[in-house]
Amino acid sequence: MNETKRIVIVGGGITGLTAAYYLQKEIKENNLPYEVKLVEASDRLGGKIKTVRQDGYTIERGPDSFLSRKQPAVKLAEELGMTDQLVRNGTGQSYILVNNKLHKMPKGAFMGIPVQVRPFLFSGIFSPKGKLRAGFDFVIPKSKKGSDQSLGVFFRRRFGNELVENLIEPLLSGIYAGNIDDMSLMATFPNFYQLEQEHRSLIKGLQKTTPKKKKSTGKKPGMFFSFINGFESMIHTLENSLDEGVVSLNTSVDHVEKKDQDYHLLLSSGEVYKADAIVMATPHYTLPKVFSQYDMFNEFHDIPATSVANVALAFDQSAIKKGIDGTGFVVSRNSDFRITACTWTHKKWPQSTPEGKALLRCYVGRPTDQSIVDFSDEEIIEIVLNDLNKTMNITQKPEFSVITRWQNAMPQYTVGHKERIAKVRDEASRELPGLFLSGSSYEGIGVPDCIGQGEKAVADVLEYLRG
Ligand code: FAD
Repeated sequence: MNETKRIVIVGGGITGLTAAYYLQKEIKENNLPYEVKLVEASDRLGGKIKTVRQDGYTIERGPDSFLSRKQPAVKLAEELGMTDQLVRNGTGQSYILVNNKLHKMPKGAFMGIPVQVRPFLFSGIFSPKGKLRAGFDFVIPKSKKGSDQSLGVFFRRRFGNELVENLIEPLLSGIYAGNIDDMSLMATFPNFYQLEQEHRSLIKGLQKTTPKKKKSTGKKPGMFFSFINGFESMIHTLENSLDEGVVSLNTSVDHVEKKDQDYHLLLSSGEVYKADAIVMATPHYTLPKVFSQYDMFNEFHDIPATSVANVALAFDQSAIKKGIDGTGFVVSRNSDFRITACTWTHKKWPQSTPEGKALLRCYVGRPTDQSIVDFSDEEIIEIVLNDLNKTMNITQKPEFSVITRWQNAMPQYTVGHKERIAKVRDEASRELPGLFLSGSSYEGIGVPDCIGQGEKAVADVLEYLRG
């Protein structure tokens, strides 16, 4: 008799939802004898993707966009019939705050690494000595083959401290809310390692591999996509595409045991659910708890996770006496600021803000300033406004604010991350076959990376169940 096989997805963030979506699709299209269940601890789906729509504003509490060149997200939007809801960011000058002064971001750079040399030579961000040191990139030998190193070590060796601290660090560490001197090169930006291996100089490598821009008179399109009704609209569409009974909200998976051929999942409801395969799409730190009898997951105690708070402030445009013509700025650590970045959301995403209003979205919570995330709303707003007033002149209090604290939300891919994950996966495949780990803790924190991992988990589960 052909019994129905049960697949449980634990965690209803974008990773788990993607896995549920593609699994359901495969089952229907190929008439597979499988059943999917998605178990989510909280009372809603989406995890870190959360949108507030208030007084005509669309405010993202978590991610606000994704890189348009990253295929898995674009593909999923197409699958869901949402391409007509994708909007590109408005482009404009972006800035960097160095030594407490706002500078225009030098043109012709990729992640802070010069592709065109001229704008760097003329930029006020670096001293003549710093510029000279960055030029050593042309002659410094490549790194030893194969071994991991921190982004800090890698870039400081190639370009010196100044280029790193005044430009590369604020851009790169902002993405991961991490410390560049701890972050793994191989797990975050392996493309720079490849470039160095192939061309020795990163500048030369980028010059050779960056596609030449076609001459055009029009404004260049933005590199990011968002959804016209907010990121969470993608979550709602995914949720609506799942059959009734697939999703269980307010239910956490507290413990899992392997029993002969299947798994027994102890749910917070007290129910024991049996499964043939499991996709764990939760943050990594849930694994040592849920699989407490397996030492292999103790490895995950070595993956830190940092906290950040996102502060959205809505103003009448008249409140901003001295504005800045641009889309936002990031802050270098040598500036006496506690915000790490600020987006002029009304300029970057005009559809998010009513006419005549301004929406500023800032982040606080550097790895060395984690305690700020626990401050009261009033304290955080005061600190943020104080910082903003150093670069702008804001004369009134915000009309309203939305503060979102994300505790331990940013997994840190520290040096050796890839090996750590590979080791756990290898042990899990032997001791716990049919268990798959997927999501932002493992192979990329960006939403498209998470979607890609959800898709990969589906392929892995199907291959496993086919036997
Ligand atoms: P999560 O969203 O964390 O989902 C995991 C789910 O598992 C949660 O819903 C949780 O409740 C559930 N869960 C946990 N334990 C259990 C359990 N035992 N049983 C059942 N359920 C459980 N990426 C971009 O591409 N662009 C951006 O602009 C961007 N900005 C960001 C801004 C912020 C503030 C943050 C925090 C992240 C940002 N990211 C961005 C990264 C991206 O949003 C996340 O990496 C991604 O959304 C994570 O998705 P996930 O499904 O892997 O995990």
